[in-house]
Amino acid sequence: MLDEKVDLLFEEVVQRNAGEVEFHQAVREVLESLGPVLAKYPEFARAKIIQRICEPESQIIFRVPWTDDRGEVHINRGFRVEFNSALGPYKGGLRFHPSVNLGIVKFLGFEQLFKNALTGMPIGGGKGGADFDPKGRSDDEVMRFCQSFMLEMYRHIGEYTDVPAGDIGVGTRELGYLFGQYKRITNRYESGVLTGKGIDWGGALVRREATGYGAAFFLEQMLKTRKQSLEGMTCLVSGSGNVALYAIEKVHALGGTVIGCSDSDGVVHDPDGIDLDLLREIKEVRRGRILHYAEARKGSQYLPHGSIWQIPCDVALPCATQNELTAKDAAALIKNGCIAVAEGANMPTTPEGVRAFAAAGVLFGPGKAANAGGVATSALEMQQNASRDRWSFEHTEERLSEIMTNIHDICFHTAEEFGAPGDYVKGANIAGFLRVARAMVALGLV
Ligand code: NDP
Repeated sequence: MLDEKVDLLFEEVVQRNAGEVEFHQAVREVLESLGPVLAKYPEFARAKIIQRICEPESQIIFRVPWTDDRGEVHINRGFRVEFNSALGPYKGGLRFHPSVNLGIVKFLGFEQLFKNALTGMPIGGGKGGADFDPKGRSDDEVMRFCQSFMLEMYRHIGEYTDVPAGDIGVGTRELGYLFGQYKRITNRYESGVLTGKGIDWGGALVRREATGYGAAFFLEQMLKTRKQSLEGMTCLVSGSGNVALYAIEKVHALGGTVIGCSDSDGVVHDPDGIDLDLLREIKEVRRGRILHYAEARKGSQYLPHGSIWQIPCDVALPCATQNELTAKDAAALIKNGCIAVAEGANMPTTPEGVRAFAAAGVLFGPGKAANAGGVATSALEMQQNASRDRWSFEHTEERLSEIMTNIHDICFHTAEEFGAPGDYVKGANIAGFLRVARAMVALGLV
């Protein structure tokens, strides 16, 4: 529920950003938490922090022309939304997917701002991407697209200005082509301009694993508050991309068993536990589909177009995309005895799904807290780039684990302080907002 004053502000956001439904959803979810904060800190209302925070500092939209392997010309649309730089340079990934539009990039940028604040690191919020689908494209086609994309984007980014990274459809391959083109245009080996880079060209150990590992760490921390752990638990992980793969790896390392994963075509149910080596070979080496996993793995079952959330499990990690876990899915998880959900993806649970989990007492870690390990490790990558240093895997993972514990604790304690014990959604929204809002007040009307 929105309180009366906040409701008016939300209506204004809807009118100013017509048709951007995912952005409205993300804003509403944060504003629903802020009633008690605005009552406690009237200076935020005086400085119009809510209105300013909902308006990106800058929104860049550009044409991306490129040719495919047959010489046919294609035109895509590129985006970079620089949301807020009160805490540091804009920071957030690039998504290449046919569904990308301004509303999606704005929802992601808005979420990113609070997520980055929760890490406690000096990074502002931004997000970008294009409605380009790398699936089924050759390496050469992906390279030409990335080069054309960077030909415009290079003017807007820089290690002290705006630092993009990967997201859906943008992994090490795409970041390599983007970085190569940036280096060529600018004549600068500016490692800190992008994160998620390959290990041989300025990348940091653990960045690839960080979002998935971090989500599993967050889940473990939530369970700990009820004196439980992942040991012996069955788990579902949706998706089978970067976040999903490393969430599966860490759940297994912490003693749980992941019995299902998915892609946009279907679901695999593997009661013996996902064979991670096989899955990685199919997804990372062959760039194949989850169907190929089921074909190769005895005892597993492929459910085309099914919902993964119908499979009974103890805990769940949605790691695919926004609004993939609906009220119906939440009802099935609750009925089947699921006790905790941590979002590896951004906003994968619909608002009705979130409410159902809260009503049933299911531990629920929202994406802006549970998946913040990725961007936090990106900030560690920037730190290593700035000092021309390289940390070991163990040291970096230790830092990641500490950061996730801190994020968990700040969400937990902030929820208690503002009268909503156990509500990680409120805790994350309020703690993230307070850090950004205080910095904005301190920096004046800029
Ligand atoms: P990838 O492109 O590596 O993987 C995305 C996965 O999700 C693929 O398996 C994809 O399947 C699947 N997927 C996409 N849409 C659907 C759908 N509608 N139903 C079922 N599966 C679907 O992306 P990432 O793993 O990097 O990102 C996943 C999520 O995590 C996103 O929400 C992203 O914003 C978020 N995130 C990512 C971070 C990172 O560090 N990479 C950091 C923080 C958040 P298919 O191949 O069929 O498309």
